[in-house]
Formats: sequence, structure tokens, C-alpha cells
Amino acid sequence: MFKAIMLRKAEDGSTLAGIEQVDPADLPEGEVEIQVAYSTLNYKDGLAITGRSPVVRKWPMVPGIDLAGTVVHSSDANFPEGSEVIVNGHGMGELHWGGLAQRARVPAAWLTRRPEALSAKNAMGIGTAGYTAMLSVLALERQAVKPADGPVLVTGANGGVGSFAVALLAKRGYEVHASTGRMSEAERLKSLGAHAVIDRAELSEKGKPLQKEHWAGAIDCVGSHTLANVCAQTRYGGTVTACGLAQGLDFSATVAPFILRGIALVGIDSVYAPEALRTQAWNCLAQEADTAMLSAITHTLSLEECVDAAHKLLEGQIKGRLIVDLAA
Ligand code: NDP
Repeated sequence: MFKAIMLRKAEDGSTLAGIEQVDPADLPEGEVEIQVAYSTLNYKDGLAITGRSPVVRKWPMVPGIDLAGTVVHSSDANFPEGSEVIVNGHGMGELHWGGLAQRARVPAAWLTRRPEALSAKNAMGIGTAGYTAMLSVLALERQAVKPADGPVLVTGANGGVGSFAVALLAKRGYEVHASTGRMSEAERLKSLGAHAVIDRAELSEKGKPLQKEHWAGAIDCVGSHTLANVCAQTRYGGTVTACGLAQGLDFSATVAPFILRGIALVGIDSVYAPEALRTQAWNCLAQEADTAMLSAITHTLSLEECVDAAHKLLEGQIKGRLIVDLAA
């Protein structure tokens, strides 16, 4: 038997969340069974555990959108017993039992080999946020945005994805400008490598279709008017990546920046990103992530502390990233 957070739907439609002892025979289908070492508690997991948003689409459900662990049973030659792996996305915690359990079983195609230079704990310290930031940085590079081309903007800079994006871009030599609603955190952003910090209010209202050209590239985490303004301020031939919707799902823009300045807008999806891209991103993270920064920004919880922490997370009472130690 192993311990898991189990979410069950009550008769009145609310979500019941608690720790249960689970029989491995009840694990979902998959070629690979994993002893989970670490998982994380993300905003999306908070929504699932509290039932505040309809994240869970199959019941009962083990939450947890990512995990790092060791393969203990396998019928897949590529990932034999003893392989150290990372799994994130693919509907874990929504449609398929996720990482907030001591055991998980998943299809082998979902696995990424954990780079040796990255511990399981640091992999989860980076988590989906750092991985999404790296996918965004790699997308700018594929579009040939180079540090010499000019400044690169990161929006939602104090968030999980934004903070990693600032640090990763700065380490690669880009002049990073960070947009935030929390100007009181400007020094923190500068310590991560931001060259300059701007107030997000400058970008959050509907603006003109074409504005003064500022950015050689941008990583946008917030969508809505901010994304439209960022496109309108991007230099000729520049690239903007879009991964988030913190301001809104809407995107009310014109084609002017695309047809008059040849800019590109690249979508970033971490959930179903192809395996080769996942491996590239995790290998880059293993080399570039600042482990001192990771220990400074993460808190480690036991499985028993997760339900309470999920409520606090949604109430905005938690700063930094939450790692869950499944052996604790
Ligand atoms: P966080 O909640 O950690 O950060 C979001 C940040 O967005 C906040 O810290 C804030 O930054 C900014 N923000 C919040 N509200 C507003 C607003 N009304 N207007 C403008 N900015 C706002 O989230 P993550 O960093 O983890 O994720 C960022 C976005 O990316 C989310 O929308 C998330 O759903 C999405 N995401 C998408 C993925 C994908 O695969 N495409 C994967 C992971 C995340 P500040 O305080 O600096 O203003």
C-alpha cells in the first residue's frame, strides 16, 4: 500500500480531499510505475484540491501536475527499473492520477530522463514554471532573437514563470526588462538579473495598434491587452512568446505589427510539448538553473501538509514555490 492525496466528489458536487492508503493494483494504466521522490504544489493543484475550479475531469483523482522519481516496474525497454525520471503535464492531476502520491503509473511516452546534474528535489524546485520559462527562452532562440538585437521584455515577472524567465534570459546575456505589478519587488527582480523594471500598468490598458519599437523579443505570461501592447512595441522582425493568461484569455489586437513589422508570435504549451523539446529544456535547466536561488525560493512540505497549504496558496498567503517530499 502507498500514501496518496485522493480527491473524491461528494454528493453535493463539492470536492473531498484527504490522505488515503492505496493499493498499487488500483493505479491507472501505463507501462511504467514510479516511486515518487518529490512533487510540487502549484496553483492548478490548489484549484483541484479545494474544488474551487473544475480542474479534475475524472474521479477519484490524485492531484499533482508533476513529479520526479525512480522507475520501480517497467515494461518499456527505454525506461528500465532504476531509471531516474521527471513527468509533467499530459493531464496528470486532471485526467490521470498525478504526483501527490508515493507511487504513480504512467505511459512511458510521458517520461523525461532526469539529467544527472539535476537532483530530484531541484527538478521539482524548477517544476512546470521553470520548464515553461525555458520552453519560452528556447522559442526566442529558435526565432534567432540574439542578445545583441536589443532588450527583451518579461511580463508577469514576479510570478513563477516570469521569475525563471528573467533569470534564464539574463544568464544567457540578454538585457532583460521586467514588467510587474509589484514594484516593491523591483530589487528582487534586479537580483535575478533584470536590467530594468517597469510598472505593468504601462501595458495593461488597450493601446494603439503600432507603438514605439522597444523589444527585440518578449516572454509574455499575462495575455489580454498586455500581450497586444507588447506586440505593438516589438521591433521589426522581433518575436513574442505567449504562455499565460494572468490578465485574461482575451487577445484584442490588430495584424499591424505582423504585416508591417514582420513580428512573430509563438505559442508555448508545456502540457503536450513533444519529447525532444522537453528533453532539451530539462537538459538546459540542469546546466543553467541556479541551485542557490532554488533553495532560497522553495519550501518543502510533507503530503500531510498539502491540503492545508492548497487553501493558503489560493488565498495568496504563500510566497515562493512549494515542493512536496513524498518520503517525509
Ligand atoms: P503566477 O501566478 O506565479 O504568476 C502570474 C503573474 O502574472 C503574477 O505574479 C503577476 O506578476 C502577473 N499578473 C497577475 N495578475 C495580473 C493582471 N491582472 N494583469 C497583469 N499581470 C498580472 O503564475 P505562473 O508564473 O506559474 O504562470 C504564469 C501564467 O502562465 C499563468 O497564466 C499560467 O496559467 C500560465 N502557464 C501556462 C503554461 C503553459 O503550458 N502554457 C504552463 C505554466 C503556466 P507581477 O506580480 O509581476 O505583476
